[in-house]
Amino acid sequence: MQLIDGKSVSEELRKNIQQDVSLWVASGGKKPHLCAILVGDDGASHTYVAAKIKDCEAIGFKSSLYQFASNVTEEKLIQTIEEINQNPDIDGLIVQLPLPKHISVDRVTQTIAPEKDVDGFHPQNVGRLSIGLPTYVSATPFGIIKLLEYYGIETAGKHCVVLGRSNIVGTPAAILMSRNVYPGNATVTICHSKTDNLEQYTLQADIIIAAIGIPEFLKADMVKPGAVVIDVGITRINDASKKSGFRLVGDVDYEAVAPLCSYITPVPGGVGPMTRIGLLTNTLKAARKEIYTNSK
Ligand code: NAP
Repeated sequence: MQLIDGKSVSEELRKNIQQDVSLWVASGGKKPHLCAILVGDDGASHTYVAAKIKDCEAIGFKSSLYQFASNVTEEKLIQTIEEINQNPDIDGLIVQLPLPKHISVDRVTQTIAPEKDVDGFHPQNVGRLSIGLPTYVSATPFGIIKLLEYYGIETAGKHCVVLGRSNIVGTPAAILMSRNVYPGNATVTICHSKTDNLEQYTLQADIIIAAIGIPEFLKADMVKPGAVVIDVGITRINDASKKSGFRLVGDVDYEAVAPLCSYITPVPGGVGPMTRIGLLTNTLKAARKEIYTNSK
């Protein structure tokens, strides 16, 4: 079994992006600028946004943060996004989710200009992904694909079973795995909460991407020996033995499943660190206008 070390791969990719930014700026390019919008006082959202801003500063990007109280009106938020869309200094815009219930996530997502949508959630960018056009691949599927690529894992002709069909993980991961490029060309099965007899699919899988959010869901008797297992799940479990009071658990029963696998990602230290690289990659692409040229 080989461990897929997302932490060290992400550090290497981070250095590559840092070099690319330096070269880009040294050759007269504009310093990439990521803008984040944060609504409300959810602790996890604050932590995620702070990490994204820190990543930007460390890598040589400019960043800015708009913060709103949880009772901000949808109109005010939409107006702010429209202003940012028009601001030529800002290359990429993210709105941290979840948003308060009175705000339509769909409206917010669709208001962000596609060329600044570095989270890759706008329907135009999702559509481009589905038909194989260059696009901003959202952070988690980006991380999964980069890990498969980095380890040179064979995907063509393999049966890939994706557990979960969310818009941010399962569905884009399934689309990417079925595209006619490497990593891709897999035969893909998507399983979800209504799938009957789910293990009949996982037992046939050469590659399993688990993204359902149920701790240790995938057991050893559901996995074919030699399979590649990518564990996307992250759930906080109370653990009094930890200083933080919790530990992070994936969707895979790691101790039992790992000995069966050819490759497996740990949690934490697998897909998680790679997602942060996805946002940086997309922001650099936005600054260089790689996806949408000036004329589009
Ligand atoms: P989500 O939106 O809740 O979607 C979960 C998916 O799992 C749904 O499609 C659901 O099916 C399916 N599902 C639920 N119970 C199931 C079951 N018993 N059998 C089969 N499928 C089942 O979750 P998400 O946003 O995709 O995230 C999934 C996990 O990945 C979470 O633990 C999340 O924290 C983690 N995550 C990690 C990262 C990272 O950086 N590593 C990033 C994003 C998410 P239905 O569609 O039928 O409801």
